[in-house]
Amino acid sequence: MAKGILERLADGIVLGDGGYIVELEKRGYVIAGPFTPELAITHPDAIREMHREFLHAGAEVLQVMAFYGSREKLATVGQGARTFEINQAATRIAKEVAGDGLLVAGDLSATWKWDVDSSSARTLVAGMFDEQIEAQAGVDFFIGETFWHFSEALLCLERIKAKTDLPAMITLAFRGSNHTDDGVTASECAKRLRDAGADIVGVNCMRDPERTYPLIEEMRNATDIYLAAQPVAFRCSDEVPWFTGTPAFPDRLEPTQLTRYEMGEFARKAKALGVNYIGSCCGSIACHVREMACALGKYDAPEVWQANPDTPMSETEFNWERRQG
Ligand SMILES: [Zn+2]
Repeated sequence: MAKGILERLADGIVLGDGGYIVELEKRGYVIAGPFTPELAITHPDAIREMHREFLHAGAEVLQVMAFYGSREKLATVGQGARTFEINQAATRIAKEVAGDGLLVAGDLSATWKWDVDSSSARTLVAGMFDEQIEAQAGVDFFIGETFWHFSEALLCLERIKAKTDLPAMITLAFRGSNHTDDGVTASECAKRLRDAGADIVGVNCMRDPERTYPLIEEMRNATDIYLAAQPVAFRCSDEVPWFTGTPAFPDRLEPTQLTRYEMGEFARKAKALGVNYIGSCCGSIACHVREMACALGKYDAPEVWQANPDTPMSETEFNWERRQG
């Protein structure tokens, strides 16, 4: 039987994939605003193609494209009744592309129905996680991601543990400060999730690599559990460290996209900081993942062409000195 995620992490760094939902909005398949995954049943080829691109780029895990796929969220686009079907279809697509070589991670995310002080909200959100977990049967492990409430992330972990025997990776999304909306610091998140049985903890989405490093360092110093980091490939600033807080979000993001080399540099730096699961989120597409794979020694570029700037046969060689400078 193929190695699972924990065995692969024991062997070395695992490279995750890139971001789906924002890119699929750019491609015209997702509505900017709700950012829901009903395209799993309306345009399955669009998801299949992105999975194939990430596979080809060197990703070692494909995440089920079920981001924001909870019942109440899908109800905002009139698809609540098809929640199970959508999650099931998204899982089938990921497994089909992954084949025997790649792992498939189930995907759970913030529900927008969380209320720290409400027991009825807790029941509602638990039920929505359970429905998605059941619909995503057959995955290799689960990722609970993009939580800005620690308590919602913790409930997600509890439901994965209650419903399956699979490894669980939980990643928080930090926006303007280094604590969650319910007041838990990054280091405290890592320790408490580890104590609650998480196999991998970390951060994803919202922030660019530069604004993610301090969170990684906090978590790494707090615990020696497997650590994951999947930042966005959109430039943020110290004033507005998260991309959804910028005026570019949601539909003017193009000029803020990082280069592939900036994401390659992220992969190198994340490795140096002791991150075990290195991936990326919104804005990171095939070229970024490919450069990350190169940086981690996981991509063999075909060597069929040698640059020859003295007798150029392309603009690339003609401008070679400028390119090198
Ligand atoms: Zn994201």
